[in-house]
Amino acid sequence: MTDSMTHAKRTAPVDPPRCPTCAQIKAAYYRSVREGNREAAVSWTAEMGRHLRSAHG
Ligand SMILES: [Zn+2]
Repeated sequence: MTDSMTHAKRTAPVDPPRCPTCAQIKAAYYRSVREGNREAAVSWTAEMGRHLRSAHG
């Protein structure tokens, strides 16, 4: 059966490892998206990129 679609991930800025800061940034990102705040969402995406580089190499 084709269940690859049912398990498709939601579109996220990145695919972060499990860490509190990642979760925090991700939550803030989704909140911004829900509120329709694109500017904030974009900045959270950038923030996640910075965090990934500094904290996760
Ligand atoms: Zn992290």
